[in-house]
Amino acid sequence: MSTVLPKSPLMALLRDMPKAELHIHIEGSLEPELIFALAERNQVELPYADVAALRRAYAFTDLQSFLDIYYAGASVLLHEQDFYDMARAYLARAVRDHVVRAEIFFDPQTHTARGVPMASVINGLYRACREAERDWGISCDLILCFLRHLSEEEALVTLAQAMPLRDRFIGVGLDSSELGHPPEKFARVFARCRALGLRLVAHAGEEGPPAYIWSALDVLQVERVDHGVQALQDAALVQRLARERIALTVCPLSNQMLQVFPDLADHNLPQLLEAGLVATVNSDDPAYFGGYINENFVQLFAATGMGARQAYQLARNSLQASFAGAASKAAWMEQLDACFVRHGMEAAITP
Ligand SMILES: [Zn+2]
Repeated sequence: MSTVLPKSPLMALLRDMPKAELHIHIEGSLEPELIFALAERNQVELPYADVAALRRAYAFTDLQSFLDIYYAGASVLLHEQDFYDMARAYLARAVRDHVVRAEIFFDPQTHTARGVPMASVINGLYRACREAERDWGISCDLILCFLRHLSEEEALVTLAQAMPLRDRFIGVGLDSSELGHPPEKFARVFARCRALGLRLVAHAGEEGPPAYIWSALDVLQVERVDHGVQALQDAALVQRLARERIALTVCPLSNQMLQVFPDLADHNLPQLLEAGLVATVNSDDPAYFGGYINENFVQLFAATGMGARQAYQLARNSLQASFAGAASKAAWMEQLDACFVRHGMEAAITP
């Protein structure tokens, strides 16, 4: 699905500016066409007649109604080549949106539960990342996510299964159904990951309360919060997030589709920035939520009336909140400034 949007200098800038994508579930980039192609290649029966029928099912009412279809789509992924093809398609798309750095979530338990070997998942995704770096110059790394609706015991088993491939992912995250599954449920597995030197992130405060953001910070000791839009309900939490420069990976079209903010015009991202928070814009599950990262920027800015200064802030936040090295970040910041100058928007560059 796509929406016709005004062409304007601001929209051109949003599309062109270098940016990092820090909240993308690779299984959520699986387009219906690729789902059907893989189903045919792997001889998997789908409960949808064709691509159009599958797309029609994308009328979500909340997080759970989305997850039900998301797991059905992932059922076509069986072999290393399938994971490679999925990630290759996403990365090609990201390059067109001028993503210079992608930190890609994957959900191994969605696949190992179906008998797919951990190595098929990680090796396919990893090869796609390395080849994209070689072919297109995009920087990318993988973040293994635990499914929070499953037990911590199962997360510990998943971590153990992934350890032979420890050098192929840089961190861990926590995703899937948030309500009723607070971060502290995963205290032990995150402590173990921290001891292993893995970077730590977690979904918190999408549908869940600010208390989940507090425990993601205090118990899991995450370095970034995925979503985090409910933080504004809690002034002390906002102060803490601002003081510690904890980035929030916000996903506007996802929030709209899953009814967190049914009208994008009411999205609180402008307020998050005004409160001094390190907010970023990301696509979450772009094949399901109606757009990749540039579509998220363009539609959000069209709906909220934000301008070039906020565009600069959001791009800068994304680059600086990434887990890339300092030299890469400095180079991307120079590209960002050059882009704003090229578009005649140098007045928006903020220190
Ligand atoms: Zn997510």
